[in-house]
Amino acid sequence: MKKTAALILLCAALLFAQSRAASPAFTPTVGAPELHLAGDNLTDILRTLYNYAQTGQYEREINQVVRPARDWIDTRTARATPNEKLAAIFDIDETAVSNLPNLLACGFCSSGARAKLFEDERLPAIPQVLDLYRLAKSKGVAVIFITGRTEPSRSVTTGDLIAAGYTDWEDLLMRPSGNSEPARTFKAGVRQTVERKGYKIILNIGDQMSDLIGGYAERTYKLPDPFYFVE
Ligand SMILES: [Mg+2]
Repeated sequence: MKKTAALILLCAALLFAQSRAASPAFTPTVGAPELHLAGDNLTDILRTLYNYAQTGQYEREINQVVRPARDWIDTRTARATPNEKLAAIFDIDETAVSNLPNLLACGFCSSGARAKLFEDERLPAIPQVLDLYRLAKSKGVAVIFITGRTEPSRSVTTGDLIAAGYTDWEDLLMRPSGNSEPARTFKAGVRQTVERKGYKIILNIGDQMSDLIGGYAERTYKLPDPFYFVE
């Protein structure tokens, strides 16, 4: 039953992907790109999203964000003082790893639907972010993942990260079970505890504004994500 549903969704996805409609309206902006959805019905919106993801625009906008983040790691680590414990915060979904193959296959379905349809599948890395992680580690920056995923999914999350190439990290901070705080306040509070432990957060990268607002980072880097919204 699950496979049948996935197949139907995949067929729908391919139909959208193959259609050649009017070009979508994109407004890429370095540092905070956003996709302005064209059209006034679901078919137009889905077509716009498929075009965005499959014609290189998504990848280009990721590059626009990661390039200055790499420069900042180079610059900031070069002027670090000996007693500074530098840290970089990485979000997980649509930052360290990509749900895009699954989103494309299911017509941009919800995270709950994807969890059921693709429960045994590992997620690929976003390659540019994996390279950023490697750069940070090579410069002695502690990498800390902060995610809205909840504690019961820790082993799945650890498996996702390792399979994608994120082989070790300083900490993986997850949302406690039953915590319904908005991500923007939850994540800012977690970053505050990181800094209280003596780390200086030099960089925070995520795909949602709720990953980034609230302080406790010298620089923030907003990856594109027109696929879903987290408050
Ligand atoms: Mg995310």
